[in-house]
Amino acid sequence: MAGEEAAAAAAAPEAAGPGPAQPPAEARPDGGEAGNGGGYDGKCVFCRIARREEPGTALLPCEYEDLVCFRDIRPGAPHHYLVVPVEHMGNCKTLKKEHIPVGKAEGRKMKEKWCSMKKMVEVGKTVLQRNNFSDLNDVRMGFHWPPFCSISHLHLHVLAPASQLGFLSRLIYRINSYWFITL
Ligand SMILES: [Zn+2]
Ligand SMILES: [Zn+2]
Repeated sequence: MAGEEAAAAAAAPEAAGPGPAQPPAEARPDGGEAGNGGGYDGKCVFCRIARREEPGTALLPCEYEDLVCFRDIRPGAPHHYLVVPVEHMGNCKTLKKEHIPVGKAEGRKMKEKWCSMKKMVEVGKTVLQRNNFSDLNDVRMGFHWPPFCSISHLHLHVLAPASQLGFLSRLIYRINSYWFITL
């Protein structure tokens, strides 16, 4: 099942249809933790990976215990990692582009989510450095914009070197396209 992200990556752009069934993000306007406790969806592959229930996917060291980091099963670049919150958290659809600049998130309901997105970027940089990739100008990081996302569990893609993305990856992870919001 860890292959779902891969299956999505094979189709451009991630149009592999809806991922595991779960409430639409719209049902949770603040994009929060759904308030239904647990924050775990057994049908969601990223939830299972985060809980080490997917033996095929090894978790990489991560400095935050509420986030996990692992390699994309179908890398689009020599380095391709995913950073994912342990708690099942919907995708970034509830965040608008104008919310992306950090300061503007202050006082907003999505502040918490935004903070975790910032942390995710931090983790992404750290994992690159740990894997001996230090040119942070040659990195592509971003969130997929639904519905071009087979997994509706918030995840940050970290790809490097950006200059070595293949044709398909350049499409799937295109800078500030409407399906891929880069940071
Ligand atoms: Zn999940
Ligand atoms: Zn994605």
